[in-house]
Amino acid sequence: MDLSKQILSAGVVGAGGAGFPAHVKAESSVDTVIGNGAECEPLLHKDFEIMARYPAEVVDGVRLLMSATGARQGIIGVKEKNAEAIASIEAVSGEPKISVHRLGDFYPSGDEYILVYEATKRLIPPQGIPLNVGVVVNNVETLLNISQAAKGIPVTQKWITVTGAVRSPVTFAAPIGMSFADALRVAGGATTDAFGIFVGGVMMGPLEFDLEHVVTKTTAGLVVLPATHTLIVRRTQPEKAKRRIGKSACDQCSYCTELCPRYVLGYDVQPHKVMRSLGFTLAGEAQWNKYAALCCACGLCTLYACPESLFPKEACDQSKADMKASGEKWTGKTVVVPHPMYEGRRTPVKQLVRRLGLASYDNHAAFVPEVTAPKRVSLPLSQHVGAPAVPVVKPGQHVRCGDCVADIREGALGARIHASIDGIVRSVDGSIVIEQG
Ligand code: SF4
Ligand code: SF4
Repeated sequence: MDLSKQILSAGVVGAGGAGFPAHVKAESSVDTVIGNGAECEPLLHKDFEIMARYPAEVVDGVRLLMSATGARQGIIGVKEKNAEAIASIEAVSGEPKISVHRLGDFYPSGDEYILVYEATKRLIPPQGIPLNVGVVVNNVETLLNISQAAKGIPVTQKWITVTGAVRSPVTFAAPIGMSFADALRVAGGATTDAFGIFVGGVMMGPLEFDLEHVVTKTTAGLVVLPATHTLIVRRTQPEKAKRRIGKSACDQCSYCTELCPRYVLGYDVQPHKVMRSLGFTLAGEAQWNKYAALCCACGLCTLYACPESLFPKEACDQSKADMKASGEKWTGKTVVVPHPMYEGRRTPVKQLVRRLGLASYDNHAAFVPEVTAPKRVSLPLSQHVGAPAVPVVKPGQHVRCGDCVADIREGALGARIHASIDGIVRSVDGSIVIEQG
């Protein structure tokens, strides 16, 4: 079986958060495979643990993809500060074609446009993808899963860090479908009664309050914060209020643009102009939407750059949604030249952590090699890009961990889903619920 079919059979998707079915990338033709081990969301350490503990599998994933795509080089991007992970990878890579690219500790070094530039000096065309410059990028956990897929092992676990306001911050491989309540128990529980959970990180992840939500193939971590923390207070402000405050308080200082990582890399993202769409000119909002089209939603402008604590990232989100709804096509500067201050304007993660009020939570999230299997898992049929998977099991059926329980819809983009515990299928709806029994 070729690699693409093995990946498809094992249900591998982009584990960094994107959820794109990984077999598609294995079918491309490129000259460079990049492993993304940048892990720049504050407080998360699961990629570090994967690289430090499973370097052979990560390198094997790169090697397999190089062979499938015809690539002549493999590069794994790792922050220089993660010396243990770098040493582990370099100890097993054993060939000059696969190297480590040392990244500075800045945010968001894991953004594909930035990572590709840092590792190869190639600039992805505006609105393009790495493939346009002969590159495929995969998160290091995806590479681990590709290595496992080649051995016939399906994806049943998701590496996560559970941290923030918890008793014992931890990193572990969670059975997919584990509830947030069970995941928090592994971390000793929350240290406060009223809290919210940033899923996948405080900068880019959604905020959840429901402990019945579950870990999926794209969950990178759970960051628990007290409900009174400024990050939760800001995130939960009604959209109308965010717009109203922005309209009245934005003085067009343009700090949001000057510190925007996509702008300093040379792309025409200008959040201060997008703020004008909130209504302080008569030119009409459509005129300003285009300055949001290349925004990667990293959140720096809202959470770090703006001295007035306004919401330029959210204004960009709205502009992008408006453009999509109206079918408006992006037109803008297609020539990309990095800003002369590109190096100097990058945001150090340490400084970001302080600004976000997270310094007291920036602790080591200890690796836990094995966790007790949850009594119940709930596997959403849609936890990847593409069509929801189609169940192939019925209530009452016994399944074993690793059995395929939902398959790809015929002819559609999608990913298979496998049982993550031994048990009995209790229900099949938008999710497949399995209970030990
Ligand atoms: S940094 Fe804040 S105040 Fe300045 S232009 Fe941007 S949104 Fe407006
Ligand atoms: S969220 Fe803000 S800082 Fe980040 S890419 Fe978009 S406009 Fe730039």
